[in-house]
Amino acid sequence: MTIREELERREHEILATAASKSADSKGRLRPEPEDPIRPSFQRDRDRVIHTKAFRRLKHKTQVFFSPAGDHYRTRLTHTLEVAQIARTIAKVLRLHEELTEAIALGHDLGHTPFGHAGERVLSALVPGGFNHYEQSLRIVDVLENDRHGLNLTWEVRDGIARHSKGKDGLPVGAPAEHRASTIEGQVARVADIIAYVNHDFDDAVRAGVLRPEQLPDGLGKTLGRTSSKRIGTMVSDVVHETLAGGLTEVRMTDEILAATLALRTFLFASVYENEVATAEFAKAEGILGGLWDKVRQRPRDYLDTRTVEGEGLDIAAQDFVAGMTDRYAVSLYEQLFIPKPWVEISGVG
Ligand code: MG
Repeated sequence: MTIREELERREHEILATAASKSADSKGRLRPEPEDPIRPSFQRDRDRVIHTKAFRRLKHKTQVFFSPAGDHYRTRLTHTLEVAQIARTIAKVLRLHEELTEAIALGHDLGHTPFGHAGERVLSALVPGGFNHYEQSLRIVDVLENDRHGLNLTWEVRDGIARHSKGKDGLPVGAPAEHRASTIEGQVARVADIIAYVNHDFDDAVRAGVLRPEQLPDGLGKTLGRTSSKRIGTMVSDVVHETLAGGLTEVRMTDEILAATLALRTFLFASVYENEVATAEFAKAEGILGGLWDKVRQRPRDYLDTRTVEGEGLDIAAQDFVAGMTDRYAVSLYEQLFIPKPWVEISGVG
């Protein structure tokens, strides 16, 4: 028996009946030999961490554009907080921790520069629209690994493709066709909202956009007065309610779910769609729009030739622009649109 087979056997012994098991995976897009040491979901987690798209997350906006302070979240630290919360929940419920983690680490790989403002802009530019979770799947399936894709398991791909949330998305209790097929994927999704409603509030206070006492009183009472208390309340609610439901799906009590959604609505009004907080984002439209036109005019200089030939100019431009970090987008824009100051050539004249 290989080490991997021993680990796979142990999963059956330790994990809950409802948990996904590596050896029972529906498989990869293309068959490939198993690793001698790591079961498949663990291997997928490692593959996600080794991508270039994962490293680029450190220079992508979470909420506050190119924050000058060192303590603001970026898309990378958001992703790590989601993974940590998801693993906490998965461990207590005896679910597959590495599967949960692989989904959490991969869920936002397809995010554009400039956060959700960038996504809105790109969605208007790309014929047929754009959303980051489809792009996350495209990154792991097609673009990474020199365009061979990561060949991840079906379960990780399903979790990444279905983590969608948005202003009205339900973190739990969504109809079956809108939620991840595995319970681990559902854990990653609820961990995403738990992470962002708390860290975005914290960053909004850091930025002076909110004061802690602006948290509506009812929410403070129900969820807690600090980020740490609120995360604790939500995680514990998910754990207890999901256990009580026999692990058929990830659940929250009506009270905590309503408070969590109310906190998200509050953040939309006071932060995500607040005019002061999003003033800089108006510029994202100019930058991404300018880059979109320019790279399409000069595809040979910027775009992947095989994609242009195989899937067309729009898809190639979408991959390029969506993949940019905030600072790469700004610097390419400067290079293409801002005239350089003329420097006198010494020794002439
Ligand atoms: Mg996220």
